Order: sequence, then structure tokens, then C-alpha cells
Amino acid sequence: MKIYDVIILGGGASGLMCAAHLKKSLSVAVVEGSPKVAKKLKISGGGKCNVTNVTVNVDKFDGDEELVANALKSYSKEDLLSFLERNHVKPVLRKERYYFCKDSSDEIINILKKESKWATTLLNTEISSVEKKDEIFEIQTSNGLLKAKKVVVATGGKSFANLGASDIGLKIAKSFGLEVKEFTPALVGMTLQPQEFWMKELSGLSCYVHIKVDGKVLHEEMLFAHKGISGPAVLSASLYWKKGSMSIDFLPNKNIFDLIKGNKKNLSSILGLPKRLSKAILDAVGITDVACQKLTQEDKQNLQKIHNYEFAPAGNFGFTKAEVCRGGVLSQEFDKKTLQSLKINGLYFVGEVVDVTGELGGYNFQWAFSSAVMSAKNINKN
Ligand SMILES: Cc1cc2nc3c(=O)[nH]c(=O)nc-3n(C[C@H](O)[C@H](O)[C@H](O)COP(=O)(O)OP(=O)(O)OC[C@H]3O[C@@H](n4cnc5c(N)ncnc54)[C@H](O)[C@@H]3O)c2cc1C
Repeated sequence: MKIYDVIILGGGASGLMCAAHLKKSLSVAVVEGSPKVAKKLKISGGGKCNVTNVTVNVDKFDGDEELVANALKSYSKEDLLSFLERNHVKPVLRKERYYFCKDSSDEIINILKKESKWATTLLNTEISSVEKKDEIFEIQTSNGLLKAKKVVVATGGKSFANLGASDIGLKIAKSFGLEVKEFTPALVGMTLQPQEFWMKELSGLSCYVHIKVDGKVLHEEMLFAHKGISGPAVLSASLYWKKGSMSIDFLPNKNIFDLIKGNKKNLSSILGLPKRLSKAILDAVGITDVACQKLTQEDKQNLQKIHNYEFAPAGNFGFTKAEVCRGGVLSQEFDKKTLQSLKINGLYFVGEVVDVTGELGGYNFQWAFSSAVMSAKNINKN
């Protein structure tokens, strides 16, 4: 029976990138449960894949800083952009910070497929377990047993199970005695407690806000939805929210007291927000929509809440809507320069299955690619 030098479990973003950077002298197989590779990448960024960001640094990630810094050093945003450019793909900038594919995420998928073509790709092959016997890894799949000297687990997180996602990576880690943090949904919309149901009434509206949560401040748009709140600021906030409260500044970069000074107009018409939204916010902070001159001392105290609307979300929209998962194999289990397990020689984990999660904005693909190349470089050396 053939013993591969390396078997990569999962043909998603990190698995294909790892294969693309392994030495061609190695015998490599990529094992994928779905009939196609890179299904999440295909639908990402609304079909145009937000592949990275102008500003990539460790504080955009929830995870071990040393590990993230090593991966970003090993394969930076610049390395990724030049890899794409060498393959004739030049992502376009949106909002001066997000790099997206110009027309379709196929631009990146095609590169990954081309660059990993030399490896054997086994599709429709569901992985169920991995064991190590006499220095050889044995991988049980729906199409029989596979053997390899080294294994790279690149099976991602478990959100969007309809695209083939699973928590097999955590099961494999646990079977080898590695410590994991179970997956929870992240980069996901949030549900509300009854006192915040007024936000649901605004379904379809959006506004630019600053959200403060767990010491972080997220600057982006929030979207009011019929199930709760969503949009880029809320999705990133969901990464840091565990339980308890967070606060929204509905008028960032403005000062409500400067706006009302000497103003004769009604409050709702000076906030610079859609009228329906202004009225709802005023109502929520306990102020009647009167002319600025008629505001009482108590009103003025309540006005401050527009900059600091504190509330506790009820929960989130769950795994079916979450763009990523928080949690994964704990960083203490790895050599932080290679992502090889400290306990099991030859066993690597890359991408979302590792306990590192990025904010919204291309950070999760950057992590998937950086972590994958970091481990590929180490495998190539040995
Ligand atoms: C709707 C959506 C939009 C997103 N948009 C963006 C974006 O624009 N920018 C960004 O940075 N991130 C985005 N993400 C997140 C990004 O897709 C992931 O972080 C990234 O794909 C993780 O890469 P990975 O290789 O670790 O996992 P994946 O890309 O998920 O690859 C894992 C692979 O393993 C396979 N697999 C799983 N279990 C098994 C099994 N038992 N047997 C065989 N194969 C298995 C899966 O089928 C999959 O192909 C988005 C995610 C979603 C869901």
C-alpha cells in the first residue's frame, strides 16, 4: 500500500495553499469530503472573496499573539499579494482597506487548483479518524485506509455544515490527546433581549458606528435585521463578545453637545441619521424629540447615551450563519514556528482548526494562507 510523504486533510483554503507550497519532490495527497474543493472560499465575500486587508497585524486576531506574529512573518500580506500577482490576479481595494477579487473568487480558487495540481486530490472522501502506528499515520476514510509519514489537518471550522464543514479536526486532535477549545460561532449576527427589540423594527437600515466590546473598538457599519443586528461592525464585535454587555456609539466622530448648541431644530433632524433611526434612538435613550432649545437637564444627561448605548445581546444567529468559528486546537499544543504538534511528531494543524480567529475584513483567509505556508516550509526542510 502506498505511503504518502504528506497527506493534507481538507481541500479548502489552507489545505490547497499548503499543497501549493510543498516541494514537488514529495508525494502528497489532499483528501476532501466534498465533490469539489474550496467550497467556502467560493461563496466568501459575497462570491468575490475578501482575501486580505491593507492593515494586517496581530491585534486583528483573537488568538496567541506569538503564533499569529510568526505566521504573518513567515507569509505576509505582501507575500500573498505577490503570489496572486505572479499568477496574474490583482485584487481590488474596497473602502480603501479590503482586498477583494475583481470579478469572482474563482480567480483565487483557480490559482490554488493550478498550483496544487501536481498533488493527488481525493474528492468525495470523508475522513473519519487518524491514528499513528509505527511512525506511520493511518487515515480512515469513506473510501478506505490511507497512509502517510506526515499529516496536515486543514479541515477548518464547523460553521456552514451544508458546505462540508465539520469538527473532525477537533476530534482528531482529541484522539491524540491534544487540548482543544470547542468551536463556537463567530463573525455572526447577534440576537437581542426584549428591551432592544426596537432595533428589529429598523430592519433594513444601516449606519456607521463604533462598537466597544471587551476592550476592543470596532469601527464599521451596523445593519438592523429582523432577527437582530448584523453588518461588519457587529460581526467583528461577535468575535470578542462572550457574555455581558457591549456599547454602541451611534454618532462616532461627532459630539452631540456641539450639535445641539444654539440649534433651533428638532433633535431628530440634526443627528445626520435617517429620520426613522434618529427617532428610534432618541426613544431608546429616553428623550422626546423636541427642539434642541427645549431640552431639559435630564434630557441632556440622557443624550450622552447616544455615544455609549450599553446593552447585553441575547446570543447570536448560530453556526448556520457564522462566517467562522472561535476555538480550535490550543496554541500551547504547537511549536509556534511550525504548527507541528509538540506531542505527536509529523502532525500539523493549519487554518481555522487552530484556536486563532480574525476579525471581518480578509483576516481569516490571511491566517489560513499564512499558517498553511508556515507549516509547508517546515515540512519542506525536514
Ligand atoms: C459565508 C462565508 C463568507 C466568508 N467570507 C470570508 C471573506 O470574505 N474573507 C475571509 O477572510 N474569510 C471569509 N470567510 C471565512 C473563511 O472562509 C475561512 O476562515 C477559511 O475558509 C478557513 O480555511 P480552512 O482551510 O481552515 O477551512 P475551509 O476552507 O473550510 O476548508 C476545510 C475543508 O475541509 C473539508 N472537510 C471538513 N471535514 C471533512 C471531513 N470529515 N472529511 C473530509 N473533508 C472534510 C471541508 O469540506 C473543506 O473543504 C467566510 C466564511 C463563510 C462561511
